[in-house]
Order: sequence, then structure tokens, then C-alpha cells
Amino acid sequence: MGKPTGFMEYTRSPVPDRAPAERIGDFEEFHLELSREERQRQGARCMDCGVPFCHSSYGCPVDNLIPEWNDLIYRGLWREAYLRLRKTNNFPEFTGRVCPAPCETACVLGINEPAVTIKHNEAYIINLAYENGWVVPTPPAARTGKWVAVVGSGPAGLAAADQLNQAGHTVTVYERDDRVGGLLMYGIPNMKLDKALVQKRIGIMAAEGIQFVTGVQVGRDLSARKLREENDAIVLACGATKPRDLPAPGRGLAGIHFAMEFLHANTKSLLDSRLADGEYISAKGRHVVVIGGGDTGNDCIGTAMRHGCASLTNFEVLPAPPGERNEEFPWPLYPRLLKYDYGHEEAAAVFGKDPREYAILTKEFLGDESGRVRAIRTIRVEWLKDAQGRWSMKEIPGTEQEFKADLVLLAMGFLGPEEQIIQELGIEKDPRGNVKASFGSFLSSQPGVYAAGDMRRGQSLVVWAIKEGRSAAREVDRYLMGSTLLS
Ligand SMILES: Cc1cc2nc3c(=O)[nH]c(=O)nc-3n(C[C@H](O)[C@H](O)[C@H](O)COP(=O)(O)OP(=O)(O)OC[C@H]3O[C@@H](n4cnc5c(N)ncnc54)[C@H](O)[C@@H]3O)c2cc1C
Ligand code: SF4
Repeated sequence: MGKPTGFMEYTRSPVPDRAPAERIGDFEEFHLELSREERQRQGARCMDCGVPFCHSSYGCPVDNLIPEWNDLIYRGLWREAYLRLRKTNNFPEFTGRVCPAPCETACVLGINEPAVTIKHNEAYIINLAYENGWVVPTPPAARTGKWVAVVGSGPAGLAAADQLNQAGHTVTVYERDDRVGGLLMYGIPNMKLDKALVQKRIGIMAAEGIQFVTGVQVGRDLSARKLREENDAIVLACGATKPRDLPAPGRGLAGIHFAMEFLHANTKSLLDSRLADGEYISAKGRHVVVIGGGDTGNDCIGTAMRHGCASLTNFEVLPAPPGERNEEFPWPLYPRLLKYDYGHEEAAAVFGKDPREYAILTKEFLGDESGRVRAIRTIRVEWLKDAQGRWSMKEIPGTEQEFKADLVLLAMGFLGPEEQIIQELGIEKDPRGNVKASFGSFLSSQPGVYAAGDMRRGQSLVVWAIKEGRSAAREVDRYLMGSTLLS
């Protein structure tokens, strides 16, 4: 432990952000950085607890060695901090930017003081590692002669590929999109995660010997069965890409899109031409309603704000979550709390109010004479608990409203993976429609076919996808070699 009294001497300093009015003028990242000295003080706040809950099962899913690198940060041993971080996390430049940081909600200091800034400490270490040229290709010393195909290049597929390649297997990653990265590339917008960083990591992995094949949908352009036959094992990491729809009257009107159509096209056009090709759904001058109050909805808000929308409203059918922990979410559980995210802040800065409307239900989409959506009819709802503790929703009579809307973005989550590849390989699904493979073995119902990430666990987080990719790789290595040294 670096400084035994650090947690009493220093307060938590979050990173500063660019001002909302300025940052909506571009798609660049909006977090700034603390000085080196201040970052060392943030490391010094770690108490090196006897039981570090931050990397227990309540905290970091990839088991980052948090107290160890916090100490190294305090002591200014940056390269050593990077080497500790690299041991457990293949892609800290992604998690250090987009992880919701369950480590921080499990931080012991967080019981009665603001938690240690673990996530931004992580980002600082890896940013410095890139700046100093410490992140370099390290190909394996020898090859095993075993071939593995990974289908899907999101964080789960990439983590699996990285680990399997380091174990000496010959790995090919298949991706149907034109760029590698899954939702790191085409879901999470550039202002949260700069795509140049994703590209940089892919470049390193390619230099280490991993082959990336883009523009190929396995199950359509390439037979999944043939892929299995030609490889010693395959890892399925295709994500949970089936979006939840809202089948209200008027759903077929023009101007109503799934969030991913909006976000994917925006990033692609941004990367292809800095939005000059016009190949995206523009929110410029539109009255935008985003339906769904999660991270995806917030990313739609941030993107629409950057296009210059005329107004922004965000519907959520559930009531607003509490602002602080309650008995439902005692420490160290990850709490569902009211978050004031970057998109909400930007909409409030421009339009003068928080865009969120809670406990509201869409009843109907109303169209104009050209067949385009012009408004949404809604009603307020209340949530009631029955004697068995089950929640049910009740509409409140007399609360009908009409909201102006000529662009509607549906961001209500995802239902699970697509069927094609699952059917072709004849693998079993679990009751939620995900690939059936237990956590720990990651083996599907077919020998040599493993599954990881959102495709196995349902819609989740980048850090969980990395964990699953790493763990599935360990099991594949064990299957191929009889034993494994992968963690
Ligand atoms: C808009 C949005 C914002 C998010 N923000 C955050 C965030 O801030 N923090 C966070 O932790 N999580 C966030 N998430 C969740 C996170 O991105 C996912 O949990 C994570 O990316 C899942 O990783 P994965 O590798 O399992 O799948 P994905 O990232 O979905 O990657 C799957 C890949 O497989 C490809 N694929 C599918 N089928 C085939 C096929 N048959 N052949 C070839 N390729 C195929 C897809 O094109 C895709 O590239 C967000 C999700 C969305 C949608
Ligand atoms: S990966 Fe997420 S949970 Fe783990 S240390 Fe980083 S921010 Fe915390």
C-alpha cells in the first residue's frame, strides 16, 4: 500500500469533461485528463483492503488487480502498473472508457466516502502505455498447429482470439461488418470510445498473427458447418443483436428506426467520410423522441444532439430509479441508480431541461399525409406490487398526451442472438433464446463449438464480454491441448 493515510488526505477527483455546448460540435471524446500528480493522489486513496471487494465477485468481472496497480500509480511506477493491468485485461483502453465500473460501487472506501476513481486510473495507465510505446505486438514464440475460428469481432470474440493466439493456436476472426470491433466499433459512439483506439488494438493483434476476415456472414456467405470441419474448434461470439420492437399502431410510419440503425450508420459515415456522404439517418432539425432509458438510448441522445436536433425527449416506461442506494441495493451490490449521463447533460444544456420522461407508455405513432411520423400519443403509468411481490403496470386514466416527433429511435434493449448460425450448427438454446453453454465450460451442445459474450449471456457489458472471451479461450485451449496455462 502506497500511502496509508491517502484516503483521509485526498478527495476523489473525477476527470473534467469538455463543456456540453462545445463538445456537441464534434464526435471527439469528451473526457479530459487529470495531471500526473493528481492521478497519483487518486491512486494513493486506495486503502489496499484486506478483502478487496473491488476485484471480488461483486467488483471487476475480469479480476483486475486493482489495489496493486493503485499502489504502483501512487509510486509513479507506470510501466509496472501497465504490466499488472495487462495480466487480467486484454483491452483496458476500452473498459477504462466505457465500463460502468462495478469495481467502484464495490469499493470499501465507497461505504462512507466517495470511491476510488478506479476506472479512470485504469484509463490513465493504458493511455500512458500507448503514449510511451509499451503496447507492442508480442507474437507467440511457437505455434501448436491447431486452428481456431472465432465468429464475431466484438469484445468477446477479440478477447478469445487474443488469448488463443497467445497460446500458440492459429486464429481467424470472421466479421460480417466492414470493420472489426462489434459494438466497440459500430454501437458505442466515437465520443465515448475513439474508433482510432479500436483500430490500433486490431493492428497490434493482426501483427501478432491473428487473421481478420471482414464482410463475411458465417451461416450465409460461409457455411458454419464447413468452418467447424476446417478448424479444430470454433468460438461463437456473435452478440445479442435482435432488437426489441414496439408494435404500437403506426409503427410502420417512416421516421421510426431501431437505435442500432441510427448509431451504426452514423459511425460508419463518420469514419468513411466525416458524415460527408450523407449515408446516415440525420436528426438535424428533427423533433427526436428516443424510447428506452438505458445506455443505448443515451448514446442516441448524444448523437442526435451532435446532428443539431430541434428537440429531444426520452421516454422510459419504468419509474425513475432512486438517487441513492436503498435496501434493495445495499453495498457492495451494483445499484440501479438514477444516472445523469453525458447525453442528458447535453440535452439539458441546449434545451434547458432534462429530456427524460419516466413511467410513460407509447400508445400510438401518429403520421402526416406523406406517411411520416409526426407525433406520439402516450399515457402515464404506475407500477404496483401484488401480494406475491410481482410488479404490474397500470395506465393512469386522463394522463394522455401528444409529443411532437418526426424522428423516433427505439432503444428498448435486445432479445438475443440471431438464429441462422445456431440453426445451421444445430446447437441448443437456453430458455431466454441465448446459446446454451454453462458459465465456466462455455461449451455448446456440439463438441468443439464454444460460445461467449452477449450471444451466451444475453445483452450485457464490454467487461463481461472480455471475461467470457478469455474464459472460453481457456476452455478451448484445454480441449485442444489437454491442459491450459491460460487464466
Ligand atoms: C449502443 C450501445 C452502447 C453500449 N454501451 C456500453 C457501454 O458504455 N459500456 C459497456 O460496458 N457496454 C455497453 N454496451 C454493451 C456492449 O457493447 C456489449 O455487451 C458487448 O459489445 C458484447 O460483446 P460481444 O462480443 O458479445 O458482441 P458484439 O459486440 O455485439 O459483437 C458481435 C459481433 O458479431 C458479428 N456477427 C454476428 N453474427 C455474425 C455472423 N453470423 N458472422 C460474422 N459476424 C457476425 C456482429 O456483426 C458483431 O460485430 C452497449 C451496447 C450498445 C448496443
Ligand atoms: S474493467 Fe470495469 S470493473 Fe474492472 S477495474 Fe476496470 S472499470 Fe472497474
